[in-house]
Amino acid sequence: MKKIICIILLSISFISCGKIKRRGNFKISRHFTFSEATISRKGSRLHFNNYPNKKNYRNIVYTARRMEDIRRIVGKELKINSWYRSGNINRLVGGSKHSAHKDGLAVDFTVNGKWELNNALRKIRKSGYSFDQIYYHSKSNYIHISFRLNRRRERKQFYYRRK
Ligand SMILES: [Zn+2]
Repeated sequence: MKKIICIILLSISFISCGKIKRRGNFKISRHFTFSEATISRKGSRLHFNNYPNKKNYRNIVYTARRMEDIRRIVGKELKINSWYRSGNINRLVGGSKHSAHKDGLAVDFTVNGKWELNNALRKIRKSGYSFDQIYYHSKSNYIHISFRLNRRRERKQFYYRRK
């Protein structure tokens, strides 16, 4: 009987741990916070939650480590526009169906000033640092960068996007 109760309690705690519901500004790496990685202005206006599950949370923390490298290369503070997106949020913002944002492996960011963003782009490409995809969104003026958990499978694709 004790065993059964134990199993039930364990499974309840396991289920409730499925989503990372901690809010706020706790750090996921030296310069990036959980709220930066999960905030969605559009989503919260509509009361959509944007909590990652455990797997995506681990991906977000992994991406934060990669973004620390990017930050070092750029040599500037990076302003995060969008990072992790739940399926609902991704649909809401018109993201592509297979967007790496849904896995927490893509980040849209900007730095102060248009010239600086171009400069950042140039530095990242020149550094030879690995990434899966980068695109520069010239209309909205941000850089989208995505990674893979297996760096050797990263494609280093680069392109410009206007829309
Ligand atoms: Zn993006």
